[in-house]
Parts: sequence; structure tokens; C-alpha cells
Amino acid sequence: MSDANKHSSTGLLKRIARWFGKPASQSNSSAHIIARSRHNISRENISENALKVLYRLNKAGYQACLVGGGVRDLILGLEPKDFDVATNASPEEIKSLFRNCRLIGRRFRLAHVFFGREIIEVATFRGQGESGADGAKEQRAHTDEGRLLRDNVYGTIEEDARRRDFTVNALYYDIKDYSVLDYMRGMEDIEQGVLRIIGDPEQRYREDPVRMLRVARFAVKLGFKIHADTEKPLFELAPLLGDISPSRLFDESVKLFLSGQALQTFEMLRHYGLFAHLYPMTEIELAREEEGFPVMLVAQAMNNTDERLQQGKSVTPAFIYAALLWEPVRQMALDINTEEGLPAFPAMQKAIAQVLSRQSRHTAIPKRFSIFMREVWQLQGRFDFMSGMRPYKLLAHPRFRAAYDFLLLRVACGEVDAELGDWWTRFQRASSSEKKKMTRTRQSGKRRQRSRKQDAE
Ligand code: ATP
Ligand code: MG
Repeated sequence: MSDANKHSSTGLLKRIARWFGKPASQSNSSAHIIARSRHNISRENISENALKVLYRLNKAGYQACLVGGGVRDLILGLEPKDFDVATNASPEEIKSLFRNCRLIGRRFRLAHVFFGREIIEVATFRGQGESGADGAKEQRAHTDEGRLLRDNVYGTIEEDARRRDFTVNALYYDIKDYSVLDYMRGMEDIEQGVLRIIGDPEQRYREDPVRMLRVARFAVKLGFKIHADTEKPLFELAPLLGDISPSRLFDESVKLFLSGQALQTFEMLRHYGLFAHLYPMTEIELAREEEGFPVMLVAQAMNNTDERLQQGKSVTPAFIYAALLWEPVRQMALDINTEEGLPAFPAMQKAIAQVLSRQSRHTAIPKRFSIFMREVWQLQGRFDFMSGMRPYKLLAHPRFRAAYDFLLLRVACGEVDAELGDWWTRFQRASSSEKKKMTRTRQSGKRRQRSRKQDAE
């Protein structure tokens, strides 16, 4: 039999099995089935597009479930961030059902179904890939440390559940009868507010060290207690984060700090020693100045971001990044200034270039963010000049607002005089005649502003 025939006949067998349908009791062998009447998930709270995808898959004879954060958050009465679908249809089969569909991913092959701005992610049930099965070996690859490089073995829904990270993330809302399928006792953990990794914690962290960051993220987001077994390996395994690509760590760190609970998440990451592997330069400064302003500046920035999100205001990860790396930049600029004798501004430019390049070995920083950070940092020196035309020019700078917010952060932490912040607050609100007065009567603030930075110059 040719390969192509073999392929199509196994495909046909699978289809036939599906047409006749496995008895529910068999396919859901070890699931706790929570009937519609015994849970609070209502279709009203599910995105219409996710429902469309679920129904279409189901109509075509596939099993189709909502899974992951969507189900977890609906049960908890939270608004899900996005809706993920899991199915026994292969990526190609999914693609053939939806015109607006693209297959993505190498590590995990997924289908993205597009509805305007909304993307519904549809994943085929992932299997365990028992060693010994040649196909599985080919489809799954590990590093020597046990990290998964590829994971494209398809399997049953139960196997899929086992491969997920936490029990509370492994609940399936089956569109067929609106029941919730619970293979990992996730419902119990939700009820008790426990975050528990599925399987052997150490092995699961070695497979994918990012799961350690996810522990911190979900424990804080959900307000759950981390189960002791899930918690134990964190301290020791944190260095494994060094093996993760900077671009993935950037994506994760955005989720960590734009979640609305950045401050608590930051504290938890530090507690488990995870933070040091994301931002090693910042960690050195934090360790140096536990009592002083650097730790306050980062914490304050996190807090401001949380407040802004709560008020529905816009936030950018670049601002948090600017805060995280400010102290390393400032210290390095001072060192360059003393050691190489470069004046303050070029010393700052050189320090910025070095800090950005070192940090990007850990977490990538997209260009649009590094441009923002550089501008915000470089504008800080210009706040010292409060006479003549210079304040007007600074006020007109497109990045003034962010730079001013950043100045206030430095004021709040005692790094610069409150008076300087006040002057700029008043200057913005002043009428044009008041502005004239303020910039005329004022001497250059450079002399007055004896901040620590200036002291060291
Ligand atoms: P939220 O979207 O609210 O941040 P989520 O739980 O939906 O939370 P996603 O990153 O969207 O998180 O992932 C969707 C689901 O995929 C998770 O709930 C989990 O079941 C699974 N998952 C995601 N990342 C991993 C991982 N690193 N290891 C194992 N399973 C994972
Ligand atoms: Mg999600």
C-alpha cells in the first residue's frame, strides 16, 4: 500500500469511528462529568465566534470543547481574556471547515480562526506520545534537560488534559451537551482555591520552565494558594528559565505585568527567585538597595500600572520596562561618567545601549518599545532646565507625557526633589503669561536640583 493510501485509509477508519461515535462512557472514561444543571457556565458569556467554531466542529462530527482559561474564568465568574477550543479534528480537518483559518506554530501546531479582530485558537487534542511508538518519537523532541522542543503527537481528550499545566486549566466545556468534563479534579481545586500542577512537578517544569512563571501569574490572578508539591521545586529550578528564548520570555513578561496585578506578581516572582532570571541587572540593583528607592521605583511603576488598568486607562509594557531598567541604566551611566570621563548625556546614551543589549539576551525588547524607553530615559535630564525656551520645547515633545509620568515616579521614590515635579505640574497647567513668568524668573534648575544623580556627577 502506498503511503498516501495508508494515510487516507487510516483517516477513513478514524472517520468511521467518529461517525459511529465512541460511547461517551468509553471516551470519557475517567472524567467527572458535570452536567449543565450542576455548573454555572452559560452560553451568554461565551463569545459568539467561539460558539460558532464549536458548533461547526460538532456538526461535522468532531468532539469540540472550550478549554483552558475560558472555562476556568467562567466558572469563577471572571471575564475570560480569550476562548480556546480543543477538538479531535486534526489541524488539516479544522482548516477544511473554516475559510478564515490559518495553521500556525511549529512547537505546537494550532489553527487560528479569524473573525475580524477576534481569533479563536483551535487545538487538536494532544497525546502523551508513549516512547516506543515511532510516530510519537518523531513528533516529539526533548533536549537533554528534558525540555520539550516539539509536541505534535495527537491523542485523546484525556491525554490532552494530562498535558495541560494546572488542574484548573484542564476543564472542558463540551458543546455537545453543555457539560463540563473534568479529568484532573480541577473542579475540586477551583472550589478550594488551589493551584496544582498536573503530574510530577519537577518533570513538568523541566519540560517547560515557563510553567514556573505561570504558577506565579495564576496564583496571583486567581488568588489561589499554590499546592505545596507544586511550589517546592520552584526555588531550585528557577535557573532553567535561562534556556527559554528571549522572545517567549518577553511575551510571558508582558502577561505577568499587564495582568492588573503586576505588583503582587512581581513580589511573588522575586520570592521564588524567578525574577532574577528574567531581569538579572534589575535584581542586582534591587538586592543592593532593598531599603532605598530603586525597589520602590519598580514597585511604584507596577502599582501605577495596576491602577491605570483598573481605571480603564491605556498602559504600555514599555513604561514598566523603562522602570525596571532605569536603575541599571542610571548606575551604569554614573560608572561610565566616572571611569571614562564622558559627560552625563553621552554617558547615559552609552549606558542605555549596553543595558538594552544585555537585557535582550533574557527578554527580547521589540524595537518600538526600546525607542520609547530610550526617549523617556533621555528626556529625564531635560527636566532640570526650567528657563528660556527649553521648557516649551520639552513640553511639545511627543514623548513628554510619558517622560513626565516617569519623572513623577522618580519623585515619589525620593530620587529627585518633589519641587521639580511640582514645577512641571504647574508649568503644564499655567496660562501663557504665567508660563512666561515661570521661565523668566526661574534660574536654571540644574544648580538647584541636587539629586543623587547630580551629586555623583
Ligand atoms: P489566560 O488566557 O487567562 O491568561 P489561560 O489559562 O487561558 O489563561 P493560555 O496561555 O491562554 O492561558 O493557555 C490556554 C491553555 O493552554 C491553558 O489553560 C492550559 O490548559 C494550556 N497551556 C498553556 N500554556 C501551557 C504550558 N506551558 N504547558 C501546559 N499547558 C499549557
Ligand atoms: Mg487563554
